Amino acid sequence: MLDRKGHDARLLASASRAQRRDRTSWQTSPTEDPALAGGILDINLKALTDNWRHIRDMQSTARVAAVVKANAYGLGLLPVADALWAEGCRSFFVALPQEGEDLKAHLPQAEVYVLSGLPRGEAGHFHEHDLIPVLNSWEEIEEWAAYNARHELRLPAAVHVDTGMNRLGLDADEARRLAGHEGLLRNFRLSLLMSHLACADMPGHEMNRRQKALFDEIRALFPSVPTSLANSAAALAWPDWDHELARPGIALYGGNPFSDRPNPMRPVVTLYATVLQVREVKRGESVGYGATWKAKEDSRIAILGLGYADGLFRCIADARSGPAHVYVAGQFAPYVGRISMDLAAVDVSAIPPQSLERGMRAEIMGPHVGVDELAHWAGTISYEILTSLGPRFTRLYTAS
Ligand SMILES: *Cc1c(COP(=O)(O)O)cnc(C)c1O
Repeated sequence: MLDRKGHDARLLASASRAQRRDRTSWQTSPTEDPALAGGILDINLKALTDNWRHIRDMQSTARVAAVVKANAYGLGLLPVADALWAEGCRSFFVALPQEGEDLKAHLPQAEVYVLSGLPRGEAGHFHEHDLIPVLNSWEEIEEWAAYNARHELRLPAAVHVDTGMNRLGLDADEARRLAGHEGLLRNFRLSLLMSHLACADMPGHEMNRRQKALFDEIRALFPSVPTSLANSAAALAWPDWDHELARPGIALYGGNPFSDRPNPMRPVVTLYATVLQVREVKRGESVGYGATWKAKEDSRIAILGLGYADGLFRCIADARSGPAHVYVAGQFAPYVGRISMDLAAVDVSAIPPQSLERGMRAEIMGPHVGVDELAHWAGTISYEILTSLGPRFTRLYTAS
């Protein structure tokens, strides 16, 4: 089966399945030994489950799922899912089938929805791995229904209705048509009707009201089907919504789900870099590539073993929204010069020399430097900071 670019879809599929088997072999594994680590990523699973429970306890009717796509926003799919499962979370959303397979292999009892939908011809694969597709188009619904009919099954699926975001999902007219389409609905179990808000991070935005109203109109046509609309921000802003399932992601991981108010969540992630060297830089000398930073007076600079290959965005060093800084020896120290691939420099002139030494840790983000603050310096959002965290860190999972 050749696609428009002339690729043989089946060949590509089998190639990627073969590669999958040894996909750890092409990557240097991070060391287990913190003393040898370039960076240390401390993931506080207690803070994670506190955040999940906080949202769960607020909801008047909704059960609370967890969105764990993109390796649980960079924090590690399996440890995150384990901790949430132990806390009572039973439903998970991933983006890709492979993420779902990894999760099901580990937690076979989990209910796993795959947000990116049903790839052409892969209904059997979803069936085999007990994955629940989020059907995003009429074509996907027909394909799922046909597979079920052919095999005399009635497997569950979610249907995603687009209520204004224009990303994935049936449009409102298709959703109305589906409600009257006995022939299709008979063939599979519609286990969830869902939609997604474009502007939940700004609860006052009028788009929220419009999307909610349209979704309410559509779900009334599917009276016995459980529904889901809320991401993190919506679950926190409107906990009284009478839906069956909330789908928070970022709030679990400590990012601020709102763009217009303080963060109600506990921080989960602390990233440390190691001080490799402290050096004197004379007035007029420069630091780093491009000699973009020049010392206005004699300075002391600490070189940290972490760079853009680790997800420390190169653009934070010349942030107009800065100055961006780290937290080291109990004080803030601003970045100077360009971020390199594996290294970054910070000005520690204000810190007493005796309180700095090689091998110390500097907090890149954590309790003193918020993930949202770091994101702000980089001109992005916490989601991108977390999902850009590199593979080289020693990841420590703690629970306090
Ligand atoms: C990513 C995603 C979520 C979670 O959003 P957060 O803002 O991280 O809470 C929920 N629903 C859908 C459809 C998503 O793609």
